[in-house]
Amino acid sequence: MPATPPPTAPAPLGLPPDRLARRRRQRRVFLLASGASYLVDALLLAALWLAGATGPGPAGAALVGGLLQCGVVGWLQHTRRNERMADPYLVTPQLIWGSAVQLFIAWCWPEVAVLVVMVLFIVFAFAALAQRPARLALAWTLCSAGIALVMLRPGASAALPHATVWQAGVSAAWMALVLARCIFVGSYGAAVRHQLGVRSRQLAEATTRLHDLAMRDSLTGVLNRRAVMESLAASLARGPVAVVLCDLDHFKRVNDRHGHQAGDQVICRFATLAGATLRAADRLGRYGGEEFLVVIVGDPAGTGAAAGSAAALAAAERLRDRLREANWTDIAPGLAVTVSMGIAASRPDESVEELLRRADQALYAAKAAGRDTVRLA
Ligand code: GH3
Ligand code: MG
Ligand code: MG
Repeated sequence: MPATPPPTAPAPLGLPPDRLARRRRQRRVFLLASGASYLVDALLLAALWLAGATGPGPAGAALVGGLLQCGVVGWLQHTRRNERMADPYLVTPQLIWGSAVQLFIAWCWPEVAVLVVMVLFIVFAFAALAQRPARLALAWTLCSAGIALVMLRPGASAALPHATVWQAGVSAAWMALVLARCIFVGSYGAAVRHQLGVRSRQLAEATTRLHDLAMRDSLTGVLNRRAVMESLAASLARGPVAVVLCDLDHFKRVNDRHGHQAGDQVICRFATLAGATLRAADRLGRYGGEEFLVVIVGDPAGTGAAAGSAAALAAAERLRDRLREANWTDIAPGLAVTVSMGIAASRPDESVEELLRRADQALYAAKAAGRDTVRLA
């Protein structure tokens, strides 16, 4: 008994199983479509034989050509040998064989040559969905040479059967069906393009969501340390900024008295209140456990460090007042939360590190001054 691969065995081509199954299904549909196409040709050529336009040869050749192509392609797909090939859709061999069958019929039975040459439109439209332009150009050159030979064959004139009403009717049906198959191939290409467009939009949205997630602190939803630092560096490169470093007062006590979960809720509420007091252009990020960094961007008039400090001081005092007014007792009975803040406004050519070091010193001074207060560097 042959050993069955475990269900976790890697799929051939390294494709995920669902994509591989989709591709196999798609190849089966292509096989059915080309089989049906040969059958339609063979039936209409048989109808032309019955209408006296030609002999049984063209219908027989279309049938044999179709059976051979579908038989070989079907066998390769069934045994999955095609999946080990560089061209698993077998576009090139089918393009060569399909063109050769039509040119053979056109050469041997010139009375139906114009009709069968039309089938090359379908063969090439199908191949163009997947084939590289250079190969298509080569195939087109060879095929055009074949058509020229058929048209210039001495003693035989390539024709389109229309001597009787029946022959004209079958020829008209032939053309209509060639047109229908060209439309089918074109619509299929449009559907694939549409699907690709949808996929790339979904991918772009997912990338944006991922990027947003990577920038956010998972507890509070505000910017994380890396993101707020990047924002600070970018703002500082553009012009004057001021930073407010916030540290919740006696936070260890909150945790010790009311539990870590209550501590988390306090951190979240602080982030919400701080976010609500800031201007849209300012940035708030979680700098550490219960420490937050606010980046106050300078005003466009570039009024310098003094104005930057004033804006930061106003923001910090607004925040301190909001915190004092806020009700924390729903988190824990008797809970009151205060914050200390250190402010530093950037100096010309100052680095991010130096600016933060001064803000940290100001914060330290605010703590030393008894907490629940704001200090300027
Ligand atoms: P100070 O007024 O001097 O800042 O006193 P403090 O107690 O706040 O001191 P410190 O800033 O050193 O302590 C911060 C505490 O915050 C220590 C840590 O247990 C707690 N903490 C840090 N991150 C989190 C968190 O995500 N959730 C909770 N619940 N607690 C945190
Ligand atoms: Mg701290
Ligand atoms: Mg603290």
